[in-house]
Amino acid sequence: MYDHVDKRGVFMKRWHGVLTALTLAAALGGMLLSLTVDSAAQSRATLAQVFIFIALAGFIATVLLRSARDRAAALATHGAVEEAVRQTCDFSSVAANEPALRSLTELRDYLMDPRKYARYGARMPKGVLLYGPPGTGKTLLARALAGEAGVPFFALSGSDFVEKYVGVGAGRVRELFKKARKAGRCVIFIDEIDALGKRRDEAASDERDQTLNALLSEMSGFYSGEGIIVVAATNRAETLDPALLRPGRFDRQIEVGLPGRAERLSILRLHSANKPLSGAVRLEALAMQTVGFSGAGLENLMNEAALLAANRDAEHIEEADLQAAYLKIVAGEDRASAANEAESRIIAIHEAGHAVASRLLSPENRLTRVSILPAGRGAAGYNLCVPRERVMVGRRHLENQICVLLAGRAAEQLAFGEDALTAGASSDIARATEIAASMVSELGMAGEPAVSLAALNRAVGGVTDASQSVRTLLDGLYRRTLELLDANRDAVMALADTLIEAEALDGAVAEGILDARLSTERRESA
Ligand code: ADP
Ligand code: MG
Ligand code: ZN
Repeated sequence: MYDHVDKRGVFMKRWHGVLTALTLAAALGGMLLSLTVDSAAQSRATLAQVFIFIALAGFIATVLLRSARDRAAALATHGAVEEAVRQTCDFSSVAANEPALRSLTELRDYLMDPRKYARYGARMPKGVLLYGPPGTGKTLLARALAGEAGVPFFALSGSDFVEKYVGVGAGRVRELFKKARKAGRCVIFIDEIDALGKRRDEAASDERDQTLNALLSEMSGFYSGEGIIVVAATNRAETLDPALLRPGRFDRQIEVGLPGRAERLSILRLHSANKPLSGAVRLEALAMQTVGFSGAGLENLMNEAALLAANRDAEHIEEADLQAAYLKIVAGEDRASAANEAESRIIAIHEAGHAVASRLLSPENRLTRVSILPAGRGAAGYNLCVPRERVMVGRRHLENQICVLLAGRAAEQLAFGEDALTAGASSDIARATEIAASMVSELGMAGEPAVSLAALNRAVGGVTDASQSVRTLLDGLYRRTLELLDANRDAVMALADTLIEAEALDGAVAEGILDARLSTERRESA
């Protein structure tokens, strides 16, 4: 099992930080310089004089630092304007996301000629909310909108607004809108709007409330003919204050979801257009393999592959580069094994258990690689599977998923007995327990079929039998997994033996070893 790297766009924050650091460094540098010069010239300076000088310098530094902060904010805004002017980014920089693009096309037309819409008495949304998982292109879409319309782009992140001191964030909002209105038609982009627009009941904060109120009042302050559009983005739409979503505010909401297979293909095509891709590479296959990748993940994949090809001084980016990049991204880089012989055997059996269960219970998931080499994220070994894309998740599927997770532990128990269990299965077991818990308390898939224990608990309180049901469910599934592996010991052992030799196996090779030995009557898959 694996998680995806969550690379959030923290560019603006970093930019802000860099500016502050630079200004501070300049201030301190100047101060130290003048201190040395000073003490050389007046070699008989008394301690008191030096002290006063240092105190004064400290005072000046504080003032500089404070104005540096404001300046950094101002500069960040200013920098974004410049960026927009030089920006070549437009709708052609965005692959996939068709519905979002269609919605933004209308806004582009409006930005280019706001009066036309005013003449018809049509009211454009003042605010647009883009929501969806990280890396799906929300920032890119906002920039592309400004680029297409040829208007300045003012960007700030919600977390930049939220300061420790009450009123600072609100002041910044007003400052931002003042600048934007001076620019005329423009796009104001507020990233991570959840940082200032959280539901107020969640965690009250005066500063955040004031900042949010300032934003709302600025938004109601400009009229529809002005040609200003505020685009906000969030990964967590569900936590937003409903006040933000009312008419006249962010009343157009656009979901920016993870790309499907065809969309992944077009994103891969876009990001390989400027790269010397070998003719033998089949991007269609790569698109199949990258279920769950965001646009940013795909861009990163292409870039990693290009780096590998460059390091080899190769003429083209080959399939092998793409596969190596893929593995590096989803599993982390293989490291040399530090395990001794006995440990390697345990890890091999554990991973073989996962692989066998996966092959039997979810044959639609393609095994990509089985390894007993430690990878990133502290894993001692791993199974890499490409899950089939699905919209609906059924009970059978979830049960099978739990069995596959528990199969590592189950294989250890079958091979070495209960006394020899290791800690290696801890995250598998935690994940299995989470799935089981949601089946019991939210999905009505264990015990009483039509009751959501979570909802019941919210409404009436005092639900206490949930944990018992989770245990019963997990216990039953663990037994089932033990039986399944027991009936297929040969396959587990054969794969484990090969793994101890080879340390890492290509998915197709592992599947070959298993398929020759697995009991023919397969359980039906979900
Ligand atoms: P978000 O703001 O949703 O977290 P970003 O807009 O910052 O995502 O996306 C990061 C990068 O990923 C983009 O600069 C782009 O290179 C790539 N990317 C994401 N989605 C797409 C897409 N639909 N088409 C092309 N590139 C994309
Ligand atoms: Mg972003
Ligand atoms: Zn495991």
